[in-house]
This record gives sequence, C-alpha cells and structure tokens, in this order.
Amino acid sequence: MSIKISSQFDAGAIDVVSAISAGAIDLNIRKDSHADITQWFYFRLQGAQGEACTIRFLNAGKTAYPDGWNDYQAMASYDRVSWFRVPTSFDGEVMTITHTPEMDSVYYAYFEPYSWERHLELLDRAQLSEQVRMLDLGSTVDGRDINALVIGNPQAAKKVWVIARQHPGETMAEWFVEGMLDALLDPADGYGRQCLKEAVFYVVPNMNPDGSVRGNLRTNAAGANLNREWNTPSMARSPEVFVVKNKMLETGCDLFLDVHGDEGLPYVFVAGSAALPTFTSEQAAAEKLFSDLFKVASPDFQDQHGYGDAPYTPETLTMGSPHITHAFGCLSLTLELPFKDNANDPDPHCGWDGARSARLGASVLQAIVQFLKANK
Ligand code: ZN
Repeated sequence: MSIKISSQFDAGAIDVVSAISAGAIDLNIRKDSHADITQWFYFRLQGAQGEACTIRFLNAGKTAYPDGWNDYQAMASYDRVSWFRVPTSFDGEVMTITHTPEMDSVYYAYFEPYSWERHLELLDRAQLSEQVRMLDLGSTVDGRDINALVIGNPQAAKKVWVIARQHPGETMAEWFVEGMLDALLDPADGYGRQCLKEAVFYVVPNMNPDGSVRGNLRTNAAGANLNREWNTPSMARSPEVFVVKNKMLETGCDLFLDVHGDEGLPYVFVAGSAALPTFTSEQAAAEKLFSDLFKVASPDFQDQHGYGDAPYTPETLTMGSPHITHAFGCLSLTLELPFKDNANDPDPHCGWDGARSARLGASVLQAIVQFLKANK
C-alpha cells in the first residue's frame, strides 16, 4: 500500500517534497498564505499503519522560530479529538518525527488544532446563555465574521476585554478562551458568578479567522501580523483589529488580556507594558498584583521566566497590549501559553495541550475577580 500525505482541510498546511515510502518522507513547512512566515504545519498521513515512519521537515532550521524546535515534540491524533506527542528531534537544520502509526490514517500538527467549526460551536453554545449577547463587528478580508461575545450587563462598572488568536496558529489561545467561557457561563462556578457581578466581559475568541482556516501561524489573508496593527489599523489590511479597537473605544476598557502562544519558552507567562515611556508605578503595581493573584489561581502560571524588559521602539504602540495601556491606562497584558510544555510540570504524553489551556482559562477568572475587587 502506498502512502499519501494531504492537507486540504481546515488549517491544513504542508509542502510535500518526497513521500515514496514510510521510511523516507521529506516535507517542507509551508509559508503563511500571504507572508514570509513559516512555522505552522498540519497534515494527514494515510497508508502507513504499522510502518516505522521517518518524517523529515527539511526547512525547519529556516523557519520563523527555529528555537521552537529545540526540545519540541510534534502532536499526532487518529481522531482529531485525542492528541498526543510523538518522538521528534531537531539537529539545527532538519526536524524529524519518528513514529509508527497504529492506524490507517493519522494527523500530525504543530499544536492541537482549534477548528473553525469548533469556533462557531463555541459562539453558538455561549449565546444559549441568557447572560450573552453576540455582536457581529464586521468581516475579515476573506469575508468571515468577526464576532464578539458580550457577557453580563453592559452597564457594569468595569469592562473586561479578552481577545485570542491574533496569531492564528497559536490555537492554545482559543482553547484558553473556551475554558474561560465555560466557567464564566457556568451558574455553578463561584468565580464566574463573582466576575459577572463586578464586570461585563467582551470576548473575541478568534481575532484572525482567515489565518486560522488558511493554516497560517501569524498573519491574516492580507499578510498582516495583527499584533503590529494596533496603532493604525485599516479596513483593507487589518479589519479584524480595526473593528475590535473601534468597539473598545466605544465601550471603554478596565482590563485587557490578549492571549497568545510562545514557540520557544516552555512556560505560561505574561508580558506587560513597562516599555512605555508613560508607564507609571501604579501600572507596574497592577501588573504585579495580577501576576501574584494568577499564581495563586493556577500552578501553571509563573513569573520567573518571560521576555524580560523590552526597550521602547516605534513598534511598541503597534502591539495590542501596550497600545491598550497607552490608550486606556488600564491593566493590559499579553498572556503567553507554550507550544512545548510547562517545564515546571511536564506531561510526557500530551505536553501542553488544549485541555490544559482550557483549565488555565477557567482559572484566570479567580485572578480577574480578585484584581477587580482590589481596584474598586
Ligand atoms: Zn502571538
């Protein structure tokens, strides 16, 4: 039986160089659809049940984040529900998966995907709650809907904004949002209940629908990195940011979380706005308070490892969280989840995955409500 590799499905992405036999599968990681960014992969292999496969990614050393392949284990699944890690190595140029599939069809991906269909189901499920209104903010370059969920009373004193997947290949961000929404809308969840007494939540589960479906890591269908568009978004290049930023200016914002995935660091961490020349000691104290509260709420969150101090550059205000601190003065954080694992508490079978991201999303409500109560 001959083997076959395909990627014509939601978020599929790979370039096949040569796939003659299971022992010699040579691939290249594909570029984003409209930008020179190479990192996300997701493909299906058929016809290799019981055969020792050697899958080589020839251009891994030339991708956007080559360090992301050090100590990285690729994900695989037979049913796209249960994902597990498979032995993966990187020699600085070529990344190699060695795996013997147990079934006729197996999927491999950079990280557990979060499908467009699941995104729509997440929105649908949320709107069944009487606490929720769904807003249509506009359309993407490809014509997909940009939706925000409004949860709680829009007249509430505090406005919390949570956005995810500006970088579409960082699918852990939408798993995080799913877990957060499920807890927020669970009438039996004490922190969810308390959150909605303190604030209204505006949640954009997927900031980059086109990039998600196209299988991009970092950019939309116009080739824009949305997290560099916040200072001057436009309907032509970055309608996703344009419409969300306009809505934020209309509603106001007291707390902003922008959820991402980090290719290199095997930790959960936040990046703040200390680079801003206008950054105040009160804003620094707010960032520290939130981190301290989040550490109590989840043992997966930590503040020992992160990006460190970044200098102020012309790029700073183009990024979501510093831009929102600049515009609203509020606590505004980029939350990073790992592609690899949490090195403080690793899981050799799954690594960091969708389920862990979702649990982290549920736990953030404790930190948010305690932060809001401390800042009345
Ligand atoms: Zn990101």
